[in-house]
Amino acid sequence: MKAKKMSTFSLLACPVAMVFLAASADTSQAQGQPAPDHPAVTVHGQTYTPRSILARNMGTPEDQTAQFPPHKIIGNVYYVGTKTLSSFLVVTPQGDLLIDSTYERNVPTIQKSVEQLGFKFSDIKILLGNHAHGDHQEGDALVKQLTGAQVMAMAEDVPALQAIKPGGKEHPIDKILHDGEEVTLGGTTLVAHLTPGHTHGCTTWTMKAQEGGRTYAVMFGCSLRSPGVLTPAIVDEFNRSFPLVHALPCDVPLGDHGAQYNMQEKFARTGSGGRNPFIDPERCTLEADIEEAMFHAILAEQQKAARH
Ligand SMILES: [Zn+2]
Repeated sequence: MKAKKMSTFSLLACPVAMVFLAASADTSQAQGQPAPDHPAVTVHGQTYTPRSILARNMGTPEDQTAQFPPHKIIGNVYYVGTKTLSSFLVVTPQGDLLIDSTYERNVPTIQKSVEQLGFKFSDIKILLGNHAHGDHQEGDALVKQLTGAQVMAMAEDVPALQAIKPGGKEHPIDKILHDGEEVTLGGTTLVAHLTPGHTHGCTTWTMKAQEGGRTYAVMFGCSLRSPGVLTPAIVDEFNRSFPLVHALPCDVPLGDHGAQYNMQEKFARTGSGGRNPFIDPERCTLEADIEEAMFHAILAEQQKAARH
Protein backbone atom coordinates (compact mmCIF):
# COMPACT_ATOMS: atom_id res chain seq x y z
CA MET A 1 0.00 0.00 0.00
CA LYS A 2 1.29 3.40 -0.89
CA ALA A 3 0.46 6.61 0.89
CA LYS A 4 -0.80 9.30 -1.47
CA LYS A 5 -1.01 12.46 0.53
CA MET A 6 -0.56 16.02 -0.56
CA SER A 7 2.54 17.69 0.69
CA THR A 8 1.83 21.17 1.87
CA PHE A 9 4.73 23.50 2.16
CA SER A 10 5.15 27.15 2.76
CA LEU A 11 8.07 29.36 1.93
CA LEU A 12 9.46 31.82 4.38
CA ALA A 13 10.79 34.93 2.70
CA CYS A 14 14.50 35.23 3.18
CA PRO A 15 16.41 38.43 2.44
CA VAL A 16 19.82 36.80 2.78
CA ALA A 17 19.40 33.87 0.42
CA MET A 18 22.71 34.50 -1.31
CA VAL A 19 24.61 34.08 1.93
CA PHE A 20 23.61 30.47 2.34
CA LEU A 21 23.89 29.76 -1.36
CA ALA A 22 27.55 30.66 -1.20
CA ALA A 23 28.27 29.04 2.12
CA SER A 24 26.85 25.57 2.29
CA ALA A 25 28.34 22.69 0.39
CA ASP A 26 26.78 19.34 1.11
CA THR A 27 29.94 17.69 2.32
CA SER A 28 30.56 20.43 4.83
CA GLN A 29 27.00 19.97 6.10
CA ALA A 30 27.64 16.28 6.55
CA GLN A 31 30.70 17.15 8.57
CA GLY A 32 28.73 19.21 11.02
CA GLN A 33 28.96 22.81 9.85
CA PRO A 34 25.66 24.54 10.36
CA ALA A 35 23.13 24.30 7.56
CA PRO A 36 20.94 27.36 6.90
CA ASP A 37 17.75 27.74 8.92
CA HIS A 38 15.72 28.51 5.80
CA PRO A 39 13.66 27.83 3.82
CA ALA A 40 11.09 26.24 6.08
CA VAL A 41 8.60 23.66 4.82
CA THR A 42 5.66 22.09 6.61
CA VAL A 43 4.88 18.50 5.66
CA HIS A 44 2.09 16.52 7.32
CA GLY A 45 1.93 19.07 10.13
CA GLN A 46 5.63 19.17 10.95
CA THR A 47 7.92 22.07 10.02
CA TYR A 48 11.47 21.49 8.80
CA THR A 49 14.45 23.61 7.79
CA PRO A 50 17.73 22.39 6.26
CA ARG A 51 19.29 22.87 9.71
CA SER A 52 16.58 20.93 11.54
CA ILE A 53 16.76 18.05 9.03
CA LEU A 54 20.53 17.82 9.37
CA ALA A 55 20.29 17.95 13.19
CA ARG A 56 17.57 15.28 13.14
CA ASN A 57 19.72 13.06 10.91
CA MET A 58 23.08 13.45 12.62
CA GLY A 59 22.29 14.09 16.30
CA THR A 60 25.32 14.97 18.42
CA PRO A 61 28.87 13.79 17.66
CA GLU A 62 28.33 11.29 20.49
CA ASP A 63 25.11 10.01 18.85
CA GLN A 64 27.02 9.35 15.63
CA THR A 65 29.39 7.04 17.47
CA ALA A 66 27.35 5.54 20.34
CA GLN A 67 26.08 2.01 19.77
CA PHE A 68 22.31 1.72 19.37
CA PRO A 69 20.95 -1.58 20.70
CA PRO A 70 21.39 -4.02 17.80
CA HIS A 71 18.04 -5.50 16.86
CA LYS A 72 16.09 -7.54 14.39
CA ILE A 73 14.02 -5.40 12.03
CA ILE A 74 12.20 -8.09 10.08
CA GLY A 75 12.98 -11.54 8.71
CA ASN A 76 16.73 -11.74 8.08
CA VAL A 77 17.32 -7.96 8.36
CA TYR A 78 19.03 -6.50 11.44
CA TYR A 79 20.17 -3.07 12.65
CA VAL A 80 23.83 -2.86 13.69
CA GLY A 81 24.48 0.91 13.45
CA THR A 82 24.94 3.75 15.91
CA LYS A 83 22.25 6.02 17.38
CA THR A 84 22.07 8.13 14.21
CA LEU A 85 24.11 6.38 11.48
CA SER A 86 22.46 3.29 10.03
CA SER A 87 24.19 0.03 9.29
CA PHE A 88 22.13 -2.99 8.27
CA LEU A 89 23.03 -6.66 8.36
CA VAL A 90 21.24 -9.10 6.03
CA VAL A 91 21.83 -12.68 7.15
CA THR A 92 21.73 -15.64 4.76
CA PRO A 93 22.77 -19.31 4.95
CA GLN A 94 25.68 -18.53 2.59
CA GLY A 95 27.06 -15.56 4.49
CA ASP A 96 25.89 -12.06 5.24
CA LEU A 97 25.62 -8.66 3.57
CA LEU A 98 26.36 -5.37 5.30
CA ILE A 99 24.88 -2.10 4.09
CA ASP A 100 27.01 0.89 5.24
CA SER A 101 30.18 0.85 7.29
CA THR A 102 29.58 4.45 8.49
CA TYR A 103 32.64 6.29 9.86
CA GLU A 104 35.76 4.17 10.15
CA ARG A 105 35.85 4.76 13.91
CA ASN A 106 32.43 3.03 14.16
CA VAL A 107 33.54 -0.24 12.58
CA PRO A 108 34.47 -1.86 15.94
CA THR A 109 31.01 -0.86 17.25
CA ILE A 110 29.32 -2.43 14.22
CA GLN A 111 31.39 -5.58 14.75
CA LYS A 112 30.32 -5.67 18.40
CA SER A 113 26.65 -5.28 17.39
CA VAL A 114 26.91 -8.11 14.84
CA GLU A 115 28.43 -10.37 17.49
CA GLN A 116 25.88 -9.40 20.15
CA LEU A 117 23.16 -10.58 17.76
CA GLY A 118 24.94 -13.93 17.62
CA PHE A 119 26.48 -13.57 14.16
CA LYS A 120 30.11 -13.55 13.02
CA PHE A 121 31.64 -10.41 11.56
CA SER A 122 33.79 -12.64 9.35
CA ASP A 123 30.60 -14.06 7.76
CA ILE A 124 30.07 -10.73 5.97
CA LYS A 125 30.71 -11.60 2.32
CA ILE A 126 29.37 -8.50 0.57
CA LEU A 127 29.57 -4.83 1.60
CA LEU A 128 27.08 -2.44 -0.02
CA GLY A 129 26.62 1.29 0.40
CA ASN A 130 23.87 3.88 0.61
CA HIS A 131 25.85 6.82 -0.79
CA ALA A 132 29.39 8.13 -1.08
CA HIS A 133 29.65 10.34 1.99
CA GLY A 134 32.01 9.66 4.87
CA ASP A 135 29.29 9.21 7.50
CA HIS A 136 28.03 6.18 5.55
CA GLN A 137 31.00 4.65 3.75
CA GLU A 138 34.26 5.87 5.30
CA GLY A 139 34.77 2.52 7.04
CA ASP A 140 34.57 0.38 3.87
CA ALA A 141 38.33 -0.27 3.68
CA LEU A 142 38.48 -1.39 7.32
CA VAL A 143 35.42 -3.67 6.94
CA LYS A 144 37.03 -5.26 3.90
CA GLN A 145 40.32 -5.64 5.77
CA LEU A 146 38.57 -7.36 8.70
CA THR A 147 36.12 -9.55 6.76
CA GLY A 148 37.46 -9.96 3.23
CA ALA A 149 34.03 -8.89 1.97
CA GLN A 150 33.50 -8.02 -1.67
CA VAL A 151 32.74 -4.28 -1.91
CA MET A 152 30.16 -3.27 -4.51
CA ALA A 153 29.38 0.29 -5.55
CA MET A 154 27.00 2.08 -7.89
CA ALA A 155 28.97 3.31 -10.92
CA GLU A 156 27.89 6.95 -10.52
CA ASP A 157 29.25 7.04 -6.93
CA VAL A 158 32.67 5.57 -7.76
CA PRO A 159 34.57 8.87 -8.17
CA ALA A 160 33.24 10.21 -4.85
CA LEU A 161 34.02 6.92 -3.11
CA GLN A 162 37.57 6.94 -4.44
CA ALA A 163 38.02 10.32 -2.75
CA ILE A 164 37.17 8.81 0.66
CA LYS A 165 40.56 7.66 1.94
CA PRO A 166 40.75 7.42 5.74
CA GLY A 167 44.39 7.35 6.80
CA GLY A 168 45.36 7.36 3.12
CA LYS A 169 43.81 3.92 2.50
CA GLU A 170 42.48 3.35 -1.01
CA HIS A 171 38.72 2.91 -1.12
CA PRO A 172 38.09 -0.71 -2.10
CA ILE A 173 35.71 -1.34 -5.01
CA ASP A 174 35.51 -4.93 -6.22
CA LYS A 175 32.40 -4.72 -8.36
CA ILE A 176 30.69 -1.81 -10.08
CA LEU A 177 26.90 -1.88 -10.13
CA HIS A 178 24.41 -0.26 -12.46
CA ASP A 179 20.81 0.87 -11.98
CA GLY A 180 18.48 -2.09 -11.51
CA GLU A 181 21.26 -4.61 -10.91
CA GLU A 182 20.57 -7.44 -8.48
CA VAL A 183 22.91 -8.71 -5.76
CA THR A 184 22.04 -12.23 -4.62
CA LEU A 185 23.51 -14.19 -1.71
CA GLY A 186 22.08 -17.27 0.00
CA GLY A 187 18.60 -16.88 -1.46
CA THR A 188 18.22 -13.17 -0.70
CA THR A 189 18.23 -10.71 -3.59
CA LEU A 190 18.81 -6.99 -3.14
CA VAL A 191 17.99 -4.67 -6.04
CA ALA A 192 20.06 -1.50 -6.53
CA HIS A 193 17.92 1.47 -7.62
CA LEU A 194 19.79 4.57 -8.75
CA THR A 195 18.13 7.49 -6.94
CA PRO A 196 20.58 10.37 -7.49
CA GLY A 197 20.52 13.94 -6.25
CA HIS A 198 22.11 13.80 -2.80
CA THR A 199 25.04 12.09 -4.53
CA HIS A 200 25.28 11.08 -8.18
CA GLY A 201 25.15 7.38 -7.31
CA CYS A 202 22.79 7.46 -4.33
CA THR A 203 21.37 3.95 -4.13
CA THR A 204 18.01 2.84 -2.75
CA TRP A 205 18.10 -0.89 -2.03
CA THR A 206 15.01 -3.09 -2.00
CA MET A 207 14.55 -6.73 -0.98
CA LYS A 208 11.88 -9.11 0.20
CA ALA A 209 11.80 -10.44 3.76
CA GLN A 210 9.65 -13.20 5.21
CA GLU A 211 7.94 -13.03 8.57
CA GLY A 212 4.96 -14.93 9.97
CA GLY A 213 4.36 -16.68 6.64
CA ARG A 214 4.12 -13.40 4.76
CA THR A 215 6.46 -11.58 2.43
CA TYR A 216 7.27 -7.91 2.97
CA ALA A 217 9.03 -5.40 0.72
CA VAL A 218 11.91 -3.78 2.58
CA MET A 219 13.21 -0.44 1.27
CA PHE A 220 16.60 0.89 2.40
CA GLY A 221 16.04 4.48 1.31
CA CYS A 222 18.91 6.61 0.09
CA SER A 223 19.23 10.15 1.37
CA LEU A 224 17.09 12.58 -0.64
CA ARG A 225 18.40 15.65 1.19
CA SER A 226 19.11 18.57 -1.13
CA PRO A 227 22.50 20.19 -1.09
CA GLY A 228 22.48 23.92 -0.35
CA VAL A 229 23.23 24.74 -4.00
CA LEU A 230 21.17 23.05 -6.72
CA THR A 231 22.85 22.91 -10.12
CA PRO A 232 20.73 22.12 -13.21
CA ALA A 233 22.25 18.62 -13.28
CA ILE A 234 21.32 17.95 -9.65
CA VAL A 235 17.81 19.34 -10.27
CA ASP A 236 17.43 16.83 -13.11
CA GLU A 237 18.62 14.04 -10.82
CA PHE A 238 16.10 14.86 -8.08
CA ASN A 239 13.30 15.25 -10.63
CA ARG A 240 14.03 11.70 -11.69
CA SER A 241 14.44 10.31 -8.17
CA PHE A 242 11.33 11.58 -6.36
CA PRO A 243 8.76 9.87 -8.63
CA LEU A 244 10.91 6.75 -8.71
CA VAL A 245 11.11 6.48 -4.91
CA HIS A 246 7.35 7.00 -4.60
CA ALA A 247 6.78 4.02 -6.92
CA LEU A 248 9.12 1.51 -5.27
CA PRO A 249 7.63 -1.51 -3.49
CA CYS A 250 7.65 -0.82 0.25
CA ASP A 251 6.16 -2.23 3.43
CA VAL A 252 9.18 -1.59 5.67
CA PRO A 253 10.77 1.85 5.13
CA LEU A 254 14.35 2.20 6.36
CA GLY A 255 16.93 4.95 5.83
CA ASP A 256 20.57 5.90 6.16
CA HIS A 257 19.71 7.81 9.35
CA GLY A 258 17.31 6.24 11.85
CA ALA A 259 15.32 9.46 12.21
CA GLN A 260 14.16 9.08 8.60
CA TYR A 261 11.99 6.15 9.69
CA ASN A 262 11.46 6.89 13.41
CA MET A 263 13.81 4.08 14.38
CA GLN A 264 14.07 4.93 18.06
CA GLU A 265 10.32 5.20 18.55
CA LYS A 266 9.66 1.98 16.57
CA PHE A 267 12.39 0.09 18.41
CA ALA A 268 10.82 1.13 21.74
CA ARG A 269 7.58 -0.52 20.59
CA THR A 270 9.13 -3.84 19.56
CA GLY A 271 8.26 -6.89 21.61
CA SER A 272 5.11 -5.33 23.03
CA GLY A 273 2.80 -7.53 20.95
CA GLY A 274 0.79 -6.65 17.87
CA ARG A 275 2.21 -5.84 14.47
CA ASN A 276 5.96 -5.47 14.03
CA PRO A 277 6.33 -1.66 14.29
CA PHE A 278 8.87 -1.61 11.46
CA ILE A 279 6.07 -2.69 9.07
CA ASP A 280 4.85 0.80 8.25
CA PRO A 281 3.64 1.07 4.64
CA GLU A 282 1.61 4.16 5.48
CA ARG A 283 4.81 6.13 6.01
CA CYS A 284 6.88 4.71 3.15
CA THR A 285 6.88 8.02 1.30
CA LEU A 286 7.02 10.40 4.26
CA GLU A 287 10.76 11.03 4.03
CA ALA A 288 10.52 11.57 0.26
CA ASP A 289 7.61 13.97 0.81
CA ILE A 290 9.66 16.03 3.29
CA GLU A 291 12.74 16.13 1.07
CA GLU A 292 10.77 16.85 -2.09
CA ALA A 293 9.07 19.82 -0.42
CA MET A 294 12.46 21.07 0.79
CA PHE A 295 13.99 20.57 -2.65
CA HIS A 296 11.29 22.73 -4.27
CA ALA A 297 11.61 25.38 -1.55
CA ILE A 298 15.41 25.57 -1.90
CA LEU A 299 15.07 25.73 -5.68
CA ALA A 300 12.47 28.52 -5.45
CA GLU A 301 14.66 30.47 -3.04
CA GLN A 302 17.66 30.03 -5.29
CA GLN A 303 15.73 31.15 -8.40
CA LYS A 304 14.36 34.17 -6.53
CA ALA A 305 17.87 35.14 -5.40
CA ALA A 306 19.18 34.77 -8.95
CA ARG A 307 16.58 37.25 -10.24
CA HIS A 308 17.77 39.99 -7.86
ZN1 LIG B 1 25.10 12.31 2.65
